[in-house]
Amino acid sequence: MAGLNLKHIYKVYPNGTKAVNDFNMEIADKEFIVFVGPSGCGKSTTLRMIAGLEDISAGELTIGDTVVNDVEPKDRDIAMVFQNYALYPHMTVYENIAFGLRLRKLSKDEIHRRVTEAAEILGITEYLSKKPKEMSGGQRQRVSLGRAIVREPKVMLLDEPLSNLDAKLRTQMRAEIAKLHAKLNTTFIYVTHDQIEAMTMGTRIVVMKNGFVQQIDTPKNLYNFPGNKFVAGFIGTPQMNFFEGTLKKKGEEVEISFDYSDAKVTVPYSMMYKVRPSFLNGDKKVFIGLRAENVSLSPDAVKSSKFKIKVKVSHKEELGNQTLVYGDINMDGDGYTESSTRIIIEAAGDTDFKAGDILDAALDLNKVHLFDKETEESILPRIPEYNFVDCEVKDGVLAFLENSVALPSAISCGDGKYELLIPSDAISFGGNIEVNVVSSEVINGKILVSFELGGRRMFAVSEEEVKKGKKKISVDLKRVSLMKDGETAVESMPDKVVMKGKLIKEKVAETVEKDGKTKKTKVIKFFLGMGDARFDAPDDMAKKLISAMGVKKAFSEELRYECGPYDMKLADSGISGEVERIADYGKEKFAVVKIGGETAYIRVDDKCEGAVHFVPDIDKLAIITSEKDIRII
Ligand code: ADP
Repeated sequence: MAGLNLKHIYKVYPNGTKAVNDFNMEIADKEFIVFVGPSGCGKSTTLRMIAGLEDISAGELTIGDTVVNDVEPKDRDIAMVFQNYALYPHMTVYENIAFGLRLRKLSKDEIHRRVTEAAEILGITEYLSKKPKEMSGGQRQRVSLGRAIVREPKVMLLDEPLSNLDAKLRTQMRAEIAKLHAKLNTTFIYVTHDQIEAMTMGTRIVVMKNGFVQQIDTPKNLYNFPGNKFVAGFIGTPQMNFFEGTLKKKGEEVEISFDYSDAKVTVPYSMMYKVRPSFLNGDKKVFIGLRAENVSLSPDAVKSSKFKIKVKVSHKEELGNQTLVYGDINMDGDGYTESSTRIIIEAAGDTDFKAGDILDAALDLNKVHLFDKETEESILPRIPEYNFVDCEVKDGVLAFLENSVALPSAISCGDGKYELLIPSDAISFGGNIEVNVVSSEVINGKILVSFELGGRRMFAVSEEEVKKGKKKISVDLKRVSLMKDGETAVESMPDKVVMKGKLIKEKVAETVEKDGKTKKTKVIKFFLGMGDARFDAPDDMAKKLISAMGVKKAFSEELRYECGPYDMKLADSGISGEVERIADYGKEKFAVVKIGGETAYIRVDDKCEGAVHFVPDIDKLAIITSEKDIRII
């Protein structure tokens, strides 16, 4: 039994295909994790890297407490089940299951105990003396599961184990594998392209596309809170309806207009609190997502609903207990072609709608999903990243929502009206701005606090639970930005500096002591070249860089270093730079330093000016390859 930690895992195949990009995940002991996504998205590659069947190009994989990047597959304490059962045809089921244990030279008694126990769990005891060819596909897959179980692995890896089985057997085996997981109390990682399999089995699901993780969450959260349009469309059958449209705030209401159709609904603004204001002015295109079960044609629902649109029925699929009604919200649309006006509605089994009927449909807009048409990211996130409020700057004072704050000298801009962007995690409780806390909920381990300030609803991410009622907040002014006419007038303080350089190898003379004598010798040392300076590179860091880039490129390819403003300090020697100015945020000061073409913010206590040197904290440095954009450290 063991948890796993995947840190910045990448896979680049020798032909240059980047199959997995920056995969990060902590898997707890005994979880049932499913990797799901369309063919070619990188799920098998990730699983094979965990198994040790494929080298990890960059990143660190930990199983239990051990970094296993360089550990042989047989020593990783994992067992793998494949789609093709790969049984030995000339051996009996018993021998097939026992084979691996014999190779490990376990005692006969122990082998017998494990094989009979596994056969019992899998319900194949009566087949133990049979040959695989005498068994059905489902039974053969049980044998291959048995072969994995008897190894008593810390982690079970399953690569599309059910895709060779027919639909009925797949459903049955799904339940059996879930039961097996509960019984074995072992971490399972399961790969499938089938979203239903993923939803029914996983405690958490990783949705992947084109080598990138799209979302990691519980089945319920993926369904209810998809982070982007891809996840929304991939999870759930029938697929979510996606319409194109716009949102326009009119006082305390928001009008949702559907493109290529006359459909329009008006909802209270309270339902759209989390939407980024720039999407509420009627210009920016959005995808409006609604699942089939969140649209209703039932006369009662339609009668009592405030949110109705017209649908022209084209055809239906009768599934017995329910009917999927297909139609179009464009009266000239055909309802067959997948389009931004086609709609699928879940209705009762005994509906008698006919092609051509024009009906009112009720929308459950509490369940609406909204995505930016350009990026396809959700604009109704569970945790809003930013608060957007109107503000005015006058004589160095920032006024917003009936409050005013003196701006520190680091923030300078002309007098006038702006839009203020405050990151939700730049607001902390304690301070001197009075707010009214309305709710506080735990979402994915974070606490989202919703409060009112000057009549506006705002959000803060807090470390601790905050009770309802009057509270005081403060805003970290380093993190805010000011916008004017869609352009950034004042940027927030950069959270990192980017520097360039190379890995350097050199033979260095060193004096060593051996048998009481001192001896001069030459040793190979590695350095990180950075700007005009260089720093000792710890051996394991150099090793990671060489193994990820290959020996040839490791010393020639340019590297990108990233470092935060608190992770550098001024020193007598190091990287040279020129102090441009001091950014004074009141409580904290930062030297704004030019190094080559880049600007770095470095936290300083005292005034400084002119030419300076500074050193980064090597432990906090991120190192990224310029060519393939792989984050190695
Ligand atoms: P999935 O399991 O999601 O179907 P894979 O992990 O098998 O996807 O593949 C991810 C990507 O890597 C695909 O583009 C595939 O073509 C590519 N790929 C897989 N194996 C190799 C290989 N041995 N050499 C080169 N490219 C590969």
